[in-house]
Amino acid sequence: MKYIRFSHERDTFYGQVEGETIHVLDRSYLEEGCQRTGQIIPLAGVRLLAPVEPSKIVCIGLNYAKHIVELGHTRHDEPVIFLKPSTALIGPEDVIDHPAMSQQVEYEAELVVVMGKTAKNISVAQAQDYIFGYTCGNDVTARDLQKKDGQWTRCKGFDTFCPIGPWIVPDLEHNNLNIRSLLNGDVKQSSNTRNLLNSVPELISYISQIMTLNPGDLIMTGTPEGVGPMKAGDVITIEIEGIGKLENKVG
Ligand code: MG
Repeated sequence: MKYIRFSHERDTFYGQVEGETIHVLDRSYLEEGCQRTGQIIPLAGVRLLAPVEPSKIVCIGLNYAKHIVELGHTRHDEPVIFLKPSTALIGPEDVIDHPAMSQQVEYEAELVVVMGKTAKNISVAQAQDYIFGYTCGNDVTARDLQKKDGQWTRCKGFDTFCPIGPWIVPDLEHNNLNIRSLLNGDVKQSSNTRNLLNSVPELISYISQIMTLNPGDLIMTGTPEGVGPMKAGDVITIEIEGIGKLENKVG
């Protein structure tokens, strides 16, 4: 089962995808009592949107050892966390705007966790129960501004710098998924989520000691090695085993 948010005949809907068919839902799949309306639409006939509208997007930096090396950083004792604004969010096939302020906009393939329940001060052992599912994400980063600023709000926070999708898949073995990015079809990043330094349950527990995670909130779990620049006209694809492909063009 896959969960989507989509636009069809000028309205926005939530749906469940089975094969090439959408079963329309009467409300967000995150709300209690959510049911199918009975309406069925072909998947090919709709525009997929970012599959969720989070209250916040929590991101993890430096969570793959080889990426820490390529950036010239050292490993921290605790997870490095930062936020992306919800206004950065875009969906599949939306255009990533290359801001004039940066000369070096880069892709970062990341497994994204979608929270299913309100989580505050939860343990590592409890964390799995709070997950709704998983999707693909691209933590787009203005690398030159990251080096210049020292902190990451500007370089990670531009509008369109958080593509996610194409859908949410629940029930995945999140600790053993191949993850890749492809720039114009050429593989640039290729790793596996087993290489995460801080696991998904550890991250959820850690973040929940700091801020309440709401249903629909996103956790971007960090990127493996192989990050690099994108230019206008490029197509960037983030591909995660068991989920699918998220494709965006750079404008
Ligand atoms: Mg990142």
